[in-house]
Amino acid sequence: MVFPQIIEDFIPSGRPNRSSLKLSGPKWITVHDTANTRAGADALAHARYLKGDEAAKLPVSWHFTVDDKQIVQHLPLNEVGWHAGDGLNGPGNRSSIGIEICENQDGNRQKAEANAAWLVADLLQKFGLDINQVVQHNRWSGKNCPRVLRGRLNGWDQFLTAVKQNLGENIFPDVPANHWAAEGIRFVKDNRLMAGKSDGKFYPDEPLTRAQTAVVLRRFYLFLLKKPYTNKSLKKKDKKKRRIDPNAYHNLSE
Ligand SMILES: [Zn+2]
Repeated sequence: MVFPQIIEDFIPSGRPNRSSLKLSGPKWITVHDTANTRAGADALAHARYLKGDEAAKLPVSWHFTVDDKQIVQHLPLNEVGWHAGDGLNGPGNRSSIGIEICENQDGNRQKAEANAAWLVADLLQKFGLDINQVVQHNRWSGKNCPRVLRGRLNGWDQFLTAVKQNLGENIFPDVPANHWAAEGIRFVKDNRLMAGKSDGKFYPDEPLTRAQTAVVLRRFYLFLLKKPYTNKSLKKKDKKKRRIDPNAYHNLSE
């Protein structure tokens, strides 16, 4: 999948719909639908709306708007937005990141939902949250929102499934599918040149020692020769059984 672009277009600080309050957590991701089916009511149009006087007067604000082409971020992720409808001190406003999914009739709603699912998964990973912390606006205020997902049979469950699928694309728990070195890390994992540590994580920013480098180089050489990664010290009869040298594998992974 091609990952949607995230454009930062913040509501200018000092505007009445910039709370300047520190977000608690975040503990939740709150999902909304824009309820605006007008042609052209895409993410950038909502960014303009949030910077305008109408939104300032209410005041209303949220963190992201997602359409079929891009994602626009309107607030820093550590700042409270006014989107949950549960008041000044409501947990929805105070501790959740608000995401609006576009409904513009000239957009591809299916793609917008796919982009939103990707964003939600990305945020869950970033903040160490789990799928149960993805909630509807409805939870906070009783409003029928996100109305498209709520109005469609199994719509909300489908959305959560899409989020989970994005989470499943993780190469390691600490290496998301969109990591800058994803291609290389997937290669060394799939070809068993390198493994995760005992906790299953890859620790992509940790250095290799000289000994570990030697082990990887030997494995890579055998990989090119299409030979199994056996250990010479094994007896001949054991060699056949143990195609992968578990000790070398273990040493590298610890
Ligand atoms: Zn809403």
